[in-house]
Amino acid sequence: MSSNRKILVLPGDGIGPEVMAEVVRVAEWFDKRRIASFDMTEDLVGGAAYDAHGTPLHNDTMARALAADAVLFGSVGGPKWEHLPFALRPERGLLRLRKEMDLFANLRPALVFDALIGASTLKPEVIQGLDLMIVRELTGGVYFGEPRGVELLADGTRRGINTQVYTTPEIIRVARVAFELARKRRNRVCSVEKANVMESGEMWREEVQKLRDSDYPDVELQHMYADNCAMQLVRNPKQFDVIVTDNLFGDILSDCAAMLTGSLGMLPSASLGAPDASGRRKALYEPVHGSAPDIAGKNMANPLACMLSFSMMLRYSFDLAEEADLVDQAVKRVLDAGIRTGDIMQPGMKKVSTREMGDALVQELEALAA
Ligand code: NAD
Repeated sequence: MSSNRKILVLPGDGIGPEVMAEVVRVAEWFDKRRIASFDMTEDLVGGAAYDAHGTPLHNDTMARALAADAVLFGSVGGPKWEHLPFALRPERGLLRLRKEMDLFANLRPALVFDALIGASTLKPEVIQGLDLMIVRELTGGVYFGEPRGVELLADGTRRGINTQVYTTPEIIRVARVAFELARKRRNRVCSVEKANVMESGEMWREEVQKLRDSDYPDVELQHMYADNCAMQLVRNPKQFDVIVTDNLFGDILSDCAAMLTGSLGMLPSASLGAPDASGRRKALYEPVHGSAPDIAGKNMANPLACMLSFSMMLRYSFDLAEEADLVDQAVKRVLDAGIRTGDIMQPGMKKVSTREMGDALVQELEALAA
């Protein structure tokens, strides 16, 4: 089938190519079954790009990413490239993509599959049925604010400075992403800052409230201090639908939320940019995990985080909600059937390879589509 859905596939290093191969199989299954088609191009990133071109991201690849409707990213890095100067390290390839695509909103769902409830360190009743989404501002805040640095004082001691800076447009564009997402979910947003001790936090709160009142009166909005949010995430995470927060608090809270689910091999993510004239956003989808050099090349990696990232792409870049549901359902059924890669293995379950997990998924997709 021909398609106008242009996807750039960047498998990267380590387990990246292994998990991505299973995603490509699923994409091809959609095409073969004439459910949805994609125009997929593959390219190099990270250490693989360095080996081929002497740079972790070739300019041609960058141009392809900017021209694509979505980028599917595997993982980068590994011991082979650790000695390289900072600017040539595999991770720089990913950072350049994020920067030049201006991906300012990072979406991380925390979703607990019933079959994996035992993988969490929290009590089953606290996390059963958990389905929340953290939207983290990714290109502003204290990680980028000026002035920054370390200065030497007259008395020989030092002073370290980082500055939290947010402008109205930066807050509004990320809050808008959260409100739009909430409308496709349970219609609730919790905006998180430290308005009690930070002026920028107080302003964040006011801007989010204003936007809600003017453009999203149908969405329920709550404000919460970041310290309380951290506590609530482990106390009663099911109270949340969509959480929107700044770069620093989002960094911490999204890792905290991720660990509610207990397994790195299961966590997808999306990074979104601003919508163009047609309403389509630049977007990059990637598993949260890294290149796992300890198991790379052994056909052991869990492809489900990458698969769920693909499902997010269907949902958020192409509005293919039914097709995304199909992938999510197939993942759920494979887990319910007791099929596990090593990282999520439990007693009495069937341990499978990366490839066999892909086989099981395609089988479930066939059954669901029959
Ligand atoms: P990692 O996520 O690669 O691995 C941590 C542990 O989790 C390892 O034991 C690994 O085997 C396991 N694991 C991770 N993903 C798995 C999967 N899908 N299936 C089964 N097990 C899985 O993190 P790390 O070891 O800290 O980093 C390794 C390399 O990856 C480094 O070079 C690091 O810079 C890079 N990294 C890249 C990204 C990215 O590409 N976005 C993110 C994090 C780390």
